Amino acid sequence: MAELVSHPDEVRVVAKRFGKGATNIDRYLELDGYKAVRKALGMQPDAIINEVKNSGLRGRGGAGFNTGLKWSFVPKQSAKPKYILCNGDESEPGTCKDRLIFEEDPHSVIEGVIIAGLAVGASSGYIYIRGEYRYLLEIMQKAIADAYAKGFLGKNIFGSGRDFEVYWHGGAGAYEVGEESALMESLEGKRGVPRIRPPFPAVVGLWGGPTVINNAETLASVPPIILGGAEWFANLGTPKNGGTRLFCLSGHVNKPGVYELPMGYNLKKMIYEVGGGIPNGRKLKAVVPGGSSCPLLTSEEIDLPMDFDTLMKAGSMLGSGGVVMVDDSTCMVKFALRIMKFYQHESCGWCIPCREGTDWLMKTLTRFHSGGGIRKDIDNIQYLSENMLGRTFCPLGDAAALPTISIVKKFRKEFEDHLEGRPCPFEKKGAVERLPVFA
Ligand code: SF4
Repeated sequence: MAELVSHPDEVRVVAKRFGKGATNIDRYLELDGYKAVRKALGMQPDAIINEVKNSGLRGRGGAGFNTGLKWSFVPKQSAKPKYILCNGDESEPGTCKDRLIFEEDPHSVIEGVIIAGLAVGASSGYIYIRGEYRYLLEIMQKAIADAYAKGFLGKNIFGSGRDFEVYWHGGAGAYEVGEESALMESLEGKRGVPRIRPPFPAVVGLWGGPTVINNAETLASVPPIILGGAEWFANLGTPKNGGTRLFCLSGHVNKPGVYELPMGYNLKKMIYEVGGGIPNGRKLKAVVPGGSSCPLLTSEEIDLPMDFDTLMKAGSMLGSGGVVMVDDSTCMVKFALRIMKFYQHESCGWCIPCREGTDWLMKTLTRFHSGGGIRKDIDNIQYLSENMLGRTFCPLGDAAALPTISIVKKFRKEFEDHLEGRPCPFEKKGAVERLPVFA
């Protein structure tokens, strides 16, 4: 079980029941549980969609698309059944927030799934949980069974005359399946590789039916929006970035953990005040601001608000909320290698730029770091990465390329130092094992 942390600057919306025993359905009910879905049952579908749209809630899985707008793309009439799919395949290194939601407040996800179903006219939902989170399945299974026993799921939910079924599904341990079309393939019992789009899932999704796919934190944010109202939620954050989000602080930081902070919270303050700064008197060298697929920021680039638009303008991404601190004892060539090893391992092999590109990059970085590099390798690493961008079926190719490009651009001198001080100047200082540990 994860250790819970807290900070006075936190604004707990999604995390408000963490540490309060809300896995128990009666306790969840005491803490305002299932009130939002009762309210939503009395609302028109368009009113639910507009409430979520106006709240400024944007996808917490990483893409940052307006959630209500996404729901509005689902056709009103459909010959095929519609579905809600909760993406709990949280696999981005540095990110561990959905895990806490499933562990501490599983009913909030179920409630979000039902409300999404009422909004788009679906009568069943699937909660897909990452394979490595197998222990969470028991928690979710019990929560779903308890909701059925209370009449909150199944036939005639809450005595409303509406039916809604929820199913859980455990993944087999593939990062790639976090991509929404690969997630649907996996759920349908096939190999988890992406589909060619269009058509998009809102129109042709699970088993060919219109499907809403949302991240677990996104869905858990919906009940508070229905209860508190769009304006209240929107005002917690910044314009166009409503509400709060769960930030996962890890790596070289004194107080790692998951903190719920308003959208737009200053990154520097997050590192030094919420996270307690960098351990052992070391200096910050770089930050991964939103999970391992995001371009890195240097220590000079961290005085900015954490929202989707600002991070995009700064040349990076807010991503999935995984904020990883990297201190000045870290070899950035080895850091790039560690990231690339992950993506090379996770590439599904479906398309050549990703399958071959990640493998070449991993081999080049391995040779370069171990002392066999030549000057031309530095440009080649950048050239290979840039040629993967936008040329792959799914975003995994970009996810491998983007941090690598940023490391070569921002820490080129460290690559050059490896040519002068072979094999690795940091290893000579005995600091190489101080690579940050992703949460
Ligand atoms: Fe598979 Fe990589 Fe292509 Fe995605 S980008 S489809 S993970 S090979």
